[in-house]
Amino acid sequence: MTTAPPAPLLVEDTHLIGGDWVPAASGETIEVINPATGELLARVPRGTAADVDAAVTAAEAAFPAWRDTNATARGALVARWAELIQQHEAELDRLESQEVGRPHWGPPPMARILTFIAGQADKVQGHSLPTYTPDVLGLTLREPFGVVGSVIPWNAPGPMFVNDVGAAIAAGNTIVIKPAEDAPLTPLALAKLALEAGIPPGVVNVVSGYGAEAGAAIPAHPGIRRMSFTGSPETGALVMAACAANLVPLHLELGGKSPQVIFPDADLDAAIPAIVAGITLNTGQICAAGSRVVVDRSVHGEVVRRLAEHMGRVRVGPWHEQVQMGPLINAKQHARVLDYVRAGREEGAELVTGGGRPAGEAFEHGFFVEPTLFDRVAPDMRIAREEIFGPVLSVIGVDGEREALEVANGTDYGLVASVWTRDVGRAVRMARGLQAGQVAVNAALGAGVIGGPFGGYKRSGFGRTMGADAVLEYTQVKTVSFRG
Ligand code: NAD
Repeated sequence: MTTAPPAPLLVEDTHLIGGDWVPAASGETIEVINPATGELLARVPRGTAADVDAAVTAAEAAFPAWRDTNATARGALVARWAELIQQHEAELDRLESQEVGRPHWGPPPMARILTFIAGQADKVQGHSLPTYTPDVLGLTLREPFGVVGSVIPWNAPGPMFVNDVGAAIAAGNTIVIKPAEDAPLTPLALAKLALEAGIPPGVVNVVSGYGAEAGAAIPAHPGIRRMSFTGSPETGALVMAACAANLVPLHLELGGKSPQVIFPDADLDAAIPAIVAGITLNTGQICAAGSRVVVDRSVHGEVVRRLAEHMGRVRVGPWHEQVQMGPLINAKQHARVLDYVRAGREEGAELVTGGGRPAGEAFEHGFFVEPTLFDRVAPDMRIAREEIFGPVLSVIGVDGEREALEVANGTDYGLVASVWTRDVGRAVRMARGLQAGQVAVNAALGAGVIGGPFGGYKRSGFGRTMGADAVLEYTQVKTVSFRG
């Protein structure tokens, strides 16, 4: 099989401003590398504040007509975009796999996310309000902000792009978005399809570039009326500070340290493969990855044995081979994951399996690491508290429900949590008690809910994507009163 990027959707050397594919104002480019092989995939513009300024100007020009397009027509254009994405599903999947280094992980979710969002465009409603006297009518309108900004990470560039762009434009905003420098090709391809779908020029603007250059310029721009950021908590804090300076509201989707809580009555035949898939999917580079197994001591030994067995069977390799896990995204991430493995050993955790680069020539050119399992992890160890963003699973033993909840909630993060039990009462108590934006019972990464809002508690962020609330969050409320 060829590993060259699929040509029809590949955008090289240009990004999208006002409907035109243009190079960076600086003329400079960034190389996009296949992390499994180190080969060059394409070059994209190295955008800076000048490109962001041009994009905001184009988005401002496009805004009035887009806002005034009736909501059903806006939704239909977003739905058409979803159809084109569906038609190009295989190409998009390949493009994303190449830049992220991920083996095929099932049908890409972009089209279905967008289809749901498209249906929300004309469900945005205000309320009628009670009045003090009968000669007055009162109501609320939900209106778009204007030009909104977004910065997204590299781990799932396609879904991240449609989450933000779809909701923003369905609500009548125009957008300036910066994909991550490591994985901008899928977002640029999706933008190409948005234009093809008939979404007017200037509604979606994509500026590629580095975080400190193009990324930082978006929340700092006075023309941006609302901001959305998905990425690390450290960068999120910088984006929030920039928004504070401009007094602009923002939505933050940050990291996670999600617990998988296993009780003695859990169906381990279902739990073990799901937990291993959850930490090896995308090589653990998923904000929602269940990276801590909080297990009742009565089944602790069996759970560790079976997790180790399953992890040992995960096939690792480049995305285009029959493998379940690819490489990490880049050298920095590779060094970071191996540093955490070292920290786990130094702090006294027991390395059960994995912990290094897989042996063999095939693994020398990519950023590969083995699926890794640590047992006897204490809740205060770094590997139990900090997000590793790699295929490293930490097992923490607990006694009973109360301690399980305390340990599960004992990190700064609160993105996703899973509970494995057959006891409905316990499942209800845990679902209420877990501090996380999403709780799944007897499932690892959510249980296939349509339109479930996604977002964090605590330091995992605030605001929600994917649900109907995502579109509402891209609107502001105006109260209107009429005296007759
Ligand atoms: P990152 O914060 O380094 O980068 C994310 C994006 O921010 C990139 O586009 C980058 O170019 C940009 N950026 C960097 N510096 C910037 C600055 N000063 N101003 C503006 N933008 C800047 O994060 P990452 O390493 O690419 O992604 C991994 C992190 O993202 C993890 O912590 C992960 O949990 C989180 N994440 C969260 C979700 C979620 O939905 N909660 C989803 C995916 C990833």
